[in-house]
Parts: sequence; structure tokens; C-alpha cells
Amino acid sequence: MMKESSSRKQGAASPCAACKLLRRRCAEDCMFAPYFPAEEPHKFATVHKVFGASNVNKMLQELPEDQRGDAVSSMVYEANARVRDPVYGCVGAISSLQQQIEMLQTQLALAQAEVVHMRMRQFSMNNSPDNASPSSSRGGQSHPARSLFDMDMVVEQGNMEDSFWP
Ligand code: ZN
Repeated sequence: MMKESSSRKQGAASPCAACKLLRRRCAEDCMFAPYFPAEEPHKFATVHKVFGASNVNKMLQELPEDQRGDAVSSMVYEANARVRDPVYGCVGAISSLQQQIEMLQTQLALAQAEVVHMRMRQFSMNNSPDNASPSSSRGGQSHPARSLFDMDMVVEQGNMEDSFWP
């Protein structure tokens, strides 16, 4: 009893969540302590279950200190997803988001095609013999044609997003 209380004095008030779960002494330079505080025991428990404490330790050691916090956040996210969905893990979330992107790109393409169709109708109405004005027939730089060109640019930008996930 006396021994335990004296050894606890030199470290923090309580061991970090990792050392507590692994039942080891939380050293002053504990790799886990900054990222797995005792108040959030669930974070380390999940990461340990999925990746294993020694792998997490190794991965953190290989990273510069300013990237370790982000690495821990993403590992916690991935581990939680794996526990929730043992088959697909976070790949399940990724593929459902990809499906949403594909669906929205299809909707966008349809909407853009409809706009092009409407502009062409407007363009042909403006250029019909009844409505033709002397100024709009000059030089092929009329306003509706420019809008069609802008629309092509938007469509190309939309296609570039296909490379979002390799
Ligand atoms: Zn610790």
C-alpha cells in the first residue's frame, strides 16, 4: 500500500487510459499519455482491440510529434468503424459516400443537360426569323453561345472529381 502511493507521486495523478488498461506504470514520457487521457478510456480500448497497443505505439513513434494527434484521431475513427461494421469498417462509409457522389453527379449532369437544352431553345427562338435583331447575328459572339461555353467548363470540372478516390 505504502509503496504504491509513493510510486504514484512521481507520475501524473493517475495513469493514462492506455497504461491503465495495460496495467503498467505510466512513465513520464509515456507515448500514449498525451492522446489517451484517463477520462476517455473507451478511445484506447477500441484502438487496442482493433490495432493492438504495440502497433499503435510503433505507428506513433514513426511519426513526427505534430502529426501524432491526427493519427490517433483517424485510428480511433477507423477502429470505431471496424467495431460497428466488422465486415467493411470505414470502407463501408467510404463506399456509401462514393455512391452518393455518383448519384449527385448523375443528377448534376441531368440538370446541366436540361439547362443546355433550355438555352438552345431560347437561342433558337431569339434567332428565328420573327425575332431576329440586326445586332445579335453579328460575329457569332452572341450571349447564349457564351453561356453554353461556360456550361462546358462546369461539366469538365465536375468530371475532375472522379479522381477523388484512387
Ligand atoms: Zn501512459
